[in-house]
Amino acid sequence: MANIHTLGFPRIGKKRELKFAVERYWKGECTQKALEQEAARLRSLHWQTQSGLDFITVGDFSYYDHVLDTSLLFGNLPKRSFLTDNLLDQYFLVARGRSVIHSTIEIRASEMTKWFDTNYHYIVPEFDSETTFQLNPNWLLHHVREARTIRPSVKPVLIGPLTYLWLGKSSDQIQKLQLLPQLVCEYARLLSILSKEGIEWVQLDEPILVTELDEKWKHAFVSTYDTLSACGMKLLVASYFGELQDNISVLMQLPVHGVHIDCVRGTADLDAVVARLTSSQIVSVGVIDGRNIWASPLRTIINRLTPIFNILGDRMWIAPSCSLLHVPVDIDQEITLPKHIRPWMSFATQKLSELETIKACLTQKKSHDLPALLENDAIMEARYHSSLTQNATIQSRSALYNDDSGNRSTPFTDRQVIQRQRLNLPKFPTTTIGSFPQTATIRNARKQFKDGTLSEQEYIHTMKAEIQFCIQKQEDLDLDVLVHGEPERNDMVEYFGEQLSGFVFSQFGWVQSYGSRCVKPPIIYGDVARPSPMTLEWIVSAQSFTSKPVKGMLTGPVTILNWSFVRDDQPRSKTCQQIALAIKDEVMDLEQAGISIIQIDEAALREGLPLRQSQWQGYLDWATKCFRLTATDVADSTQIHTHMCYSEFNDIIEAIASMDADVITIETSRSNMELLEAFKAFKYPNEIGPGVYDIHSPNIPKRDIMTDLLRKAMAHIPAEQLWINPDCGLKTRTWDQVIPALKEMVAAAKELRS
Ligand code: GLN
Ligand code: ZN
Repeated sequence: MANIHTLGFPRIGKKRELKFAVERYWKGECTQKALEQEAARLRSLHWQTQSGLDFITVGDFSYYDHVLDTSLLFGNLPKRSFLTDNLLDQYFLVARGRSVIHSTIEIRASEMTKWFDTNYHYIVPEFDSETTFQLNPNWLLHHVREARTIRPSVKPVLIGPLTYLWLGKSSDQIQKLQLLPQLVCEYARLLSILSKEGIEWVQLDEPILVTELDEKWKHAFVSTYDTLSACGMKLLVASYFGELQDNISVLMQLPVHGVHIDCVRGTADLDAVVARLTSSQIVSVGVIDGRNIWASPLRTIINRLTPIFNILGDRMWIAPSCSLLHVPVDIDQEITLPKHIRPWMSFATQKLSELETIKACLTQKKSHDLPALLENDAIMEARYHSSLTQNATIQSRSALYNDDSGNRSTPFTDRQVIQRQRLNLPKFPTTTIGSFPQTATIRNARKQFKDGTLSEQEYIHTMKAEIQFCIQKQEDLDLDVLVHGEPERNDMVEYFGEQLSGFVFSQFGWVQSYGSRCVKPPIIYGDVARPSPMTLEWIVSAQSFTSKPVKGMLTGPVTILNWSFVRDDQPRSKTCQQIALAIKDEVMDLEQAGISIIQIDEAALREGLPLRQSQWQGYLDWATKCFRLTATDVADSTQIHTHMCYSEFNDIIEAIASMDADVITIETSRSNMELLEAFKAFKYPNEIGPGVYDIHSPNIPKRDIMTDLLRKAMAHIPAEQLWINPDCGLKTRTWDQVIPALKEMVAAAKELRS
């Protein structure tokens, strides 16, 4: 009958209930029992939401992160967490360095990093030569039994053993694959336990199948699944987030009962997989986009699937492309989205209904006029022909920017001379990354202005007073290039999105980013333009309070794109170019108003890199071009800065240099200037401010540590090219942390100058 299922469902709850429950537990405001009850309530709710599917999925729930759950499941929590006997507290210790706030026990938290190319972050498993695995299946069995009280057809999902190992980090030189046989043993034990529970299918997620794998890993797949398939359980191996390419032969060699493929990003894989399917295998086709919020074009999908369904019948299952973890829970609660645009969208709950419609259309007679399908036809028609998404002026402007329009005409070395004359800065100029502490006064004013309890005039007055205060503090500190402090911004992308055309914002469209932290990405539905200036008034006001240069502060096009849900009816590069032109308008206005330095942050440039390195260049080409486009038309005397929030530079350093910002500030202090390795082989041409202290920590940095770091930097970067600044913006710190820290930083600069 063509089963429909989901690879996973969001765990946070419609109103982020899980976040609040977990945070209450951390604060000591609720007991473990109460947290567990709330978790069980949410699980049960999410299973009921899946009532129209052929399976409900178990194992996708997590208090913090499902990779950390896998470490717990196989007894691989780091030993330093064994300071308490309570398993939940051990778990939170590994995730955050402490369990509850009042506990005296603290340990080093495990590293956290991005889950493939999503904005979800997982806790990195730790391996060393003493690593052993010990199955600890109780919590999973508990969930399985809980689910079965709701209905019998339950499909547990686990991260597959290869992907689990691949995601981890080994502290000494043990080859991760050496751990595989032992790990596979524990997986096999788990499968036989699940089989005894009466489970028929288990889903094993192996998204590393869409990455570049070397021969050793490819071989490991085959031997691993040989062993696991001997357990008598039906295994569904799931790949997602991209195309299989050469790994198709790896996946199709596995002696398993089913494979899942991502048909949204890997459209080409479907026919090849179907051709290789054995008569006892099923294929789960991931046709609903699990990474975006648009309603699916159901008729197109049905037309694509019909011939395959005619061949495979009930050996074809239908699913979202990946877990629905990456989209918000339910659009039903969105009442403020524009009424013409809302029907174009589909959150996790709606995506499950789409599966039901596809199934009904494939399996019922006269299905071509099912009401749900006709309704979807109308929605697609409305969206693709809407005047709301298309703006002729924007499009004809975009068309003017051809391949050659993306460079500043004067080379950097000449600009540098002109800028030095204009700005007259000392050697080792000092600056900050943009934001200063977001105090309660600032947050309240923003909130009251939004609520309508503070008039626009009063709001502007309050913000300008903050800006003046911030400028005064920076003058007192004797910083060289000042900033206005960003008091008016809640978020560096949302602030701009709210003022650009083509964007909408949901009220509850939260997606888990890490642990209890959720983000609510803007939604780009149409052509983007800037109707009026976005930052001008604030920056000009800041400049009026000082004779030192104030940097204009903007978020770059690539970062705005990478942190939003982006329209899927045109290439991302095209949307990015439109954003770039909108930011360019702001750049030109700032310059016109006499602002001599403009910073265009590209905090998230790296996040858009494709999963396969062989595809990086294509992305980097258009991404860096969009960045350059924002600044191509400024005068030589206008200094363009950019900022990036990470230190893995080595592999993209040439692309970063090609952005041709006059000055780049980057995160380096946490990695002990590790990044400077990149500059050994590659001579970075422009000026650079390697962050000299970590703003994520409340500690006051020591002057000699900063001068040391800078001396290290000077081994690779000529002193004339160096700037001195913190790692990132200061908005999460307090003034009494910021003042002494910057005092030390300025003192370090002065020491170096003398
Ligand atoms: N200008 C921003 C700030 O200082 C940059 C933030 C970031 O890089 N994430 O807050
Ligand atoms: Zn940053």
